[in-house]
Order: sequence, then C-alpha cells, then structure tokens
Amino acid sequence: MTIGSRGKASYRFLVVDDDPIAAAAAAAVLRGAGHTAEIMNAASGAVERVAATKPDCVLLDLMMPNVDGYEVCTAIRARPELARTKIIVLSMKAYDYDRRRSRELGADGYLVKPVNVESLLREAERLIRDTLDLTYWGVRGTLPVPGPRSRRYGGNTSCISLTFPSGAFFIFDAGTGIKALSDRIMAEGKPRMMAHIFISHPHWDHINALPFFAPLYVPGNEFEILGAPHGDIDVRKLVSDQMDGIYFPVTIREFGARVYFRDLSEGEITVEGVTVRTKLLNHPGRCLGYRVEYGGRSFSYVTDHELYPKGHPHYDGRYRDELAAFLDGTEVLVTDTCYSDEEYKKKQGWGHSSVIEVADLASKARVKALHLFHHDPDQSDEDIDAKLSQAEKRLQEQSSPTRVIAPAEGETYHI
Ligand SMILES: [Zn+2]
Ligand SMILES: [Zn+2]
Repeated sequence: MTIGSRGKASYRFLVVDDDPIAAAAAAAVLRGAGHTAEIMNAASGAVERVAATKPDCVLLDLMMPNVDGYEVCTAIRARPELARTKIIVLSMKAYDYDRRRSRELGADGYLVKPVNVESLLREAERLIRDTLDLTYWGVRGTLPVPGPRSRRYGGNTSCISLTFPSGAFFIFDAGTGIKALSDRIMAEGKPRMMAHIFISHPHWDHINALPFFAPLYVPGNEFEILGAPHGDIDVRKLVSDQMDGIYFPVTIREFGARVYFRDLSEGEITVEGVTVRTKLLNHPGRCLGYRVEYGGRSFSYVTDHELYPKGHPHYDGRYRDELAAFLDGTEVLVTDTCYSDEEYKKKQGWGHSSVIEVADLASKARVKALHLFHHDPDQSDEDIDAKLSQAEKRLQEQSSPTRVIAPAEGETYHI
C-alpha cells in the first residue's frame, strides 16, 4: 500500500477475467480511484502472477475456460505467503451456493455482475484495510432537526451502521437516518442482502423510520431485529404495533424479506461470528447498550442513558462502575451526550446525560475515541461545537488519552 498525494491509500489490484470488456471496466474504476490495476484475460498463470507481484487484492471471475475461478482461489489459499492477499469474486451467478462455496475456498468477498462502481470500490478498499466501517446516518436525538441549524451535523435521528471485514452488516437503531441508508442500499441494488438491526429501545426516535427501510420489502432479503422486550411486549410486538394500520398504513405482514425477531436481555450473544454484549441502561423503560467485539477490536453503542452527577440524590456509583467495566478499553464509544453542562441542570431526570459526565465516564473506562451522539433537538450545529469543546477541555484537565469527536451524518470511520 502507498499513500497518494491527497493522503488516500492506493492499492494494487490484479483483475483476472476472460471477458476483456468486463476486466477493462473493473480496472478503469480502480484506476479512476487512484489504484493500480493489472489485467489478465485467462486464469492460467494467474497464481504465479499473484505470487510474483503480491497484489493487495485479486478480482476473480468465476466462470473461465480451462482453469476456473474456484481453482485459482484454492491455489492462492494453498500458499501461506499469499495469506494477506484479498480475493474478491466477481460473478454473474447470484446463487447462494456459489457465494458460500467461494467463501469456503478462501474468497474474502463476492460481488454479482454487473457490479456497481461505488460498491466495488467500497468493498475492495474495506476488505484490504480489514477495518470495521462505522457510518453515521443520523446523529440527533428525540426529534429530527431540518433546516439551517443542522446543516453541518445533519438533522436525522439515531441510526448508524457497522460493516465487518467478513461482510456481516449491523444496523443500530432505526431513527429517521435509516431512510438515507435505505436509499443507499436500494441504489446499489444489492441482491439478497442480510443484516441485523439492533434496537436500543422503542422510543420514537429509535424505531419510527423502520417502516421506511425499503430492503425490508424486497423478497430474498433477510433481517434479524434484536432488542429488549418490555415485560410481556416482545420485540416483534414493539415493532409491529407502530405498523398496525392506524399509526402506519403498512403492516409487517407486507414485509417481503424474511424478518426474524430476537428478544435480548443483559448478557452475551454471537451474531455471525461477532460477539455482542448487552447492558441495561438508566433510561425510562428498558434500554440496551451494545458492545461489539471483533478481531481484537471493539465498538460500543450506548444511548440513551442518564449519568447522575456526584451529589445528585440518584447518583449510583455501582451503576457507573458497571458501565465503566462494560466499556473498558473500547476503541469507539458512541453515546448519549444530549446536553451541555448548563442544560443538564435544567433537564435532570429526563433520561439523558451531560457531556461532562460522559467525558468522565469515557476517561474512567479508558475509551480510546468518544463520539458525541443523540443531540438535543433545540441545539444548533454551534451548540454541538460548544459541547465538543466542553468535552475536550474536561478530558485535557484530566490528562486523559481519550480522544473526542462529534461525528456528522454521512461520515464513515474505520475501526
Ligand atoms: Zn432517543
Ligand atoms: Zn429514549
């Protein structure tokens, strides 16, 4: 890997495809993004070429005469010195069998032709970087904030996505931000997508745009919706009650995708090889915080919750210690920082935290990067800037190594 003049990584690709037009098109996309791409129009000799040039990634057609893509994949994976070379299969075959077989033989990714330019680049760069990609689709709490006051950070309510190097795809909450995610997925025309949607709790700003997530209506897609039940109201009912024909005209019976529901409590589960731990949070009703562990990295999504300051009659040192232990050493903490210190004094007991208390918790829990999230709807972009300054100052005063940022809608971070 080399770093280009604009600081963007430049990778080396080998495109192996007997269709010269498809190969040239893929190479053009990669070169256009600042990468280098060599083309081979036959599979014979491809393994030797990979061994000689050690590209970062091989784009491999499945159906080629004489030697096919499966054989090339198997031969590359038989050589330990090429273990770091990523393999992405490009195929016109959309069958589950081929997708699964490719993975079994060591392919890292699988894209169905014709390949969307954006998804080819994103998939290839993500696989080579080997990162968890965290994308913000909505950073606001409680209510959407359209208009000039939210131009920089965005005005949509809570929704983020997490893409894993393995291809697993997690979504956290379904506030209005999920509409933009839906638009992105539909524009890419991803066939047969699968995702897990984790709901923190069923307050409107965390579930009310789920009915606008169009992939739920596409046959062949598969989704699991997970969250905490409220007494005898399970997650399926929490979601379906807002789509009962009165509050929303379309019911969950109209979902074309296969949709499963899973009730969670505090504990640990494994989802597509990813460890997910949960913690009940101090917020009205049952609200779950999530911590994800993958390949030695961790990510935490903890909203909404109230941290009572020391001296407050409800201050609970044990809860704070438990939360700090839950978050200990996490790479990224996305968390409720609804209020500035001054605002919190007027809004105690509303179920949300001041940025100062959160900064203290992040420092105590040795969080590497604190991401401010779930902003109060009365705040402008400048108010969010001010909260960021408050958090920075607080962490500096404690000589804390925790970094703090305020992410904006549409931004992606690599973990
Ligand atoms: Zn909320
Ligand atoms: Zn809430």
